[in-house]
Amino acid sequence: MLNFSVRLMEQLVVPTFVVDADCRVIIWNQACERLTGLKASEVVGTQEQWRAFYTEPRPCLADLVAMDRSHEIATNYEEHDDLGEDAVLVNGCRVRSWILMPQLGKRFYLTADAGPIFDETGKLVAVVETLRNMTAQKLAQDELQRLATCDGLTSVANRRSFDSTLNAEWRRATRESRTLSLLMLDVDYFKLYNDSYGHQGGDECLKRVAAAMCEVTQRSSDAVARYGGEEFAVLLPATDLAGACTVAERIRAAVENLTIPHAKSQVADHVTVSIGVASVSVSLDGVQANLVGAADAALYRAKEEGRNRVAVADGSHAAPAA
Ligand code: GH3
Ligand code: MG
Ligand code: MG
Repeated sequence: MLNFSVRLMEQLVVPTFVVDADCRVIIWNQACERLTGLKASEVVGTQEQWRAFYTEPRPCLADLVAMDRSHEIATNYEEHDDLGEDAVLVNGCRVRSWILMPQLGKRFYLTADAGPIFDETGKLVAVVETLRNMTAQKLAQDELQRLATCDGLTSVANRRSFDSTLNAEWRRATRESRTLSLLMLDVDYFKLYNDSYGHQGGDECLKRVAAAMCEVTQRSSDAVARYGGEEFAVLLPATDLAGACTVAERIRAAVENLTIPHAKSQVADHVTVSIGVASVSVSLDGVQANLVGAADAALYRAKEEGRNRVAVADGSHAAPAA
């Protein structure tokens, strides 16, 4: 029976290794050899299981469980969760992480489950760790996420993503009593641009405008999105009206400096944009829809006042002095 159990573990298709209570490897199965590139003969009897995953000594998930240091899992791995109530294993742990496999020189996204094994007296005698290479699934999932949130033409955030970012930033601004600013940008005489240079020319122009916007919005929290058609939005968290106007003017100038020829434009001989700016101190007033409405009204004014300019929404105010 013992022989059978060892054989079962050795040939199990799931990459598996077992450590004893002193974190010494007692089983390193064939699937684990294939996944990690580390041979059982190199690791069984040692405490060097880290060599399969890291370039220097560091506890593996099984070691943390064996040493009763499961509480350190959260700080050691980017994603983790308990196996949940259905788990057969007591104190079972699961982590997911990108690992640069040192034996193979390849980057894998691994899921690892570890659970303790107790003897009849309740003493911990071993920990079993099973591994799965989830790289293909993770890449597919990340790509789906990218497709769901990015605009296909310009690669900036799409409308859907903008709506959810606005929602999250609004809640954060309320929580932290911060000012939230929004720019709405529209390309001037873009219908005429398409008439002159064709729809493909128009698409190319939108890509360049979006790239210029991204280049001059510097904070990582600044969110450039394609709002629809030739309209873009830029959400500027923790930015007051003066700051938002500076960014708007920087964007306007950056687009103008691209000097993309626009023969039929009524305001210049190159592509220009109009920008509406709205800013609210969320602790004081307003509902979320008003921020978009206010920026949109300001954009309308920028158009009316001659285009290729920045206009500020009525009622927008700078953040209270710090
Ligand atoms: P204004 O200065 O008042 O903004 O004039 P406009 O011509 O830019 O205004 P309008 O909103 O009437 O026209 C927008 C045009 O943008 C209409 C449409 O043909 C064009 N457009 C919208 N989305 C796309 C797109 O994805 N690609 C291209 N090439 N054109 C687009
Ligand atoms: Mg428009
Ligand atoms: Mg337009």
